[in-house]
Formats: sequence, C-alpha cells, structure tokens
Amino acid sequence: MLVKQVTQLIGDTPLIDLQMEIPKQSHIYAKLEMYNPGGSIKDRLGKYLFQKAMKEGKINQQTTIIEPTAGNTGIGFALVAQAYHLPVILVVPENFSFEKQELMKALGAKIIHTPSDEGIKGAIKKARELEKSLTNTFVPMQFENKENPETYYHTLAPEITKDLQKPVTAFVAGAGSGGSFAGTAKYMKEKYPDVKVIVAEPEGSILNGGPIHPHKTEGIGVEFVPPFFKDVNIDEVLTISDEQAFSYVNQVAKEQGLFIGSSSGAALAASLQVAAKLPPNSNIVTIFPDSSERYLSQNIYQ
Ligand code: PMP
Repeated sequence: MLVKQVTQLIGDTPLIDLQMEIPKQSHIYAKLEMYNPGGSIKDRLGKYLFQKAMKEGKINQQTTIIEPTAGNTGIGFALVAQAYHLPVILVVPENFSFEKQELMKALGAKIIHTPSDEGIKGAIKKARELEKSLTNTFVPMQFENKENPETYYHTLAPEITKDLQKPVTAFVAGAGSGGSFAGTAKYMKEKYPDVKVIVAEPEGSILNGGPIHPHKTEGIGVEFVPPFFKDVNIDEVLTISDEQAFSYVNQVAKEQGLFIGSSSGAALAASLQVAAKLPPNSNIVTIFPDSSERYLSQNIYQ
C-alpha cells in the first residue's frame, strides 16, 4: 500500500477471530484498533471531526484545537491536526498514562494538567475556560458532540459487518465518552434487530449504580451517563474488576501474541461472560481500543 499521508492509514483495522477457549463454541471477534497510526480507536474521531469541520468552514489554518481528554483522543487529534497544521491544546487529568502524554508532546500538542481528583469533569471545565480566554478556537468536546457516535456508525461498524459476513449475536464494548459504543451499537441494531448490545464498565463507573472511585482500567468508565446512550437500547451493563481486566491483558499477550490495553481486557472479560449466557455458536463482536505498549510503565505484565 502506497500512501502520502499518515491519516490515510486510519481505519480499516483488522478483525480477529480469537482462538481461545470460549464458552459454547461461540466466536469472539475483536476489532484491533491499535493498528490505527496513532495507536487507538480515537484516530478515527480526529479524522472524521476535522475533515467535517474543515469542509463546513468551522476551522481554518489559524484555529487552535482545544480538547479535554484522558489521552487517546489527544493523540488522535494531535496526529490529524498535524495534517492540517493546526495548533492543539489538550487538557488532561494528571494521573493519566505517562506514555500517552509523551506521544501527545511528540506530535507537537501543548498539554495542560488538571488535578487527578477532579476527574474528567475538571478537564472539561478547564477546556471551557481556555476556550473563552482565546480567539479562533475549536473545541470538539467529544463528550457531547453527536459527530462522535456518527464517526463509528459510518466507519468502524460497517467495516465489521463487511469483514464478518454473518449476523452478529452480541456487540460488547467499553465506554469512555460512549461514542464508539453508541455509534456501533446503533448500526448493529439497525442491521441485526435481534443483536444484544452490552457495555463493559470498570468498577468505579456509575452505569450499574456503583459508587464512583478511581480504577486502573484506563479509557473506559463514566462519571455521568453519556448523552449518546439515549439513542440506543442497551441490553446489559457488565461491571468488570481491574483484576479481571488485567488478567486478560496478560493472558492475551502470552497466548495470542497480542498487546492489548486494559479496556480491551475488560471488553474481553465481558465478552466471555456474554458467551456463557448466549446460545451456542454465537458471534460476539468486541473492540480492542488500544495497545498495552502505552501502559508499560505501569508494570501491567506479571
Ligand atoms: N478504551 C480506551 C483505551 C480509550 O482511550 C477510550 C476512549 N476514552 C475508550 C476505550 C472508549 O472510547 P469512547 O470514548 O468511544 O467511549
């Protein structure tokens, strides 16, 4: 494949038919989003949003992009913004992954830290303040921008059905902003009316009513119900402990040769639980949003 720009490499990621012990001879197909050039699912969001904003005249060569992010969005936005020569300011709670912040810097983004104990809400507030204090800014605000689920509805979801060529019994994925879950789940429900759509959340996230508390599983878990969820009939939310998520991060590396991040580990743990409950020979689709390589400084491998 000959390309001229790194952004051309975004999307069309592989779908793996996992060869491991899965209950009831079912299959788990995982979309390997670490194969995007910025290393995560969020490259898609940057590409879709900035292309659209450019086309609609919402941004020009002088516009500063500002976004609150837990990390991968920042990398995706910084990578795509480079193609348009746009400056980027990312507001990041300080406890998020060291490697992700190094990659954002490498791509030329400016990072502003907010206190860890204020969570993503603190970063959102700070991004809004910055927006007011600067001129010619564009704040995509992934947590409320309807183009976030649209991105996946138009890219990731059709890629899955094209590659799979058989009905999906269940779609299982984590949610941070909720965009990738909601956009993909909506597409799946339209295409396969009987499909079950299931959210995997870490302990410390609120969807199953649990109290908010910090967790090690990075990139998923919510402090408020994502607004995009009102467009999807969610069948179930499964709460996965950090221990379960990281045990699959370890197992998948040792047995499959795949370096997956902890949100992928949680998605796999939930997919296996779903396989045990569904009829035999089900086709379960999940997403592996990023790679473990950006968490190695946290000693995730035992
Ligand atoms: N996993 C990881 C590692 C992420 O960084 C994110 C984005 N925060 C997600 C999963 C969830 O993606 P979304 O924001 O679309 O819910």
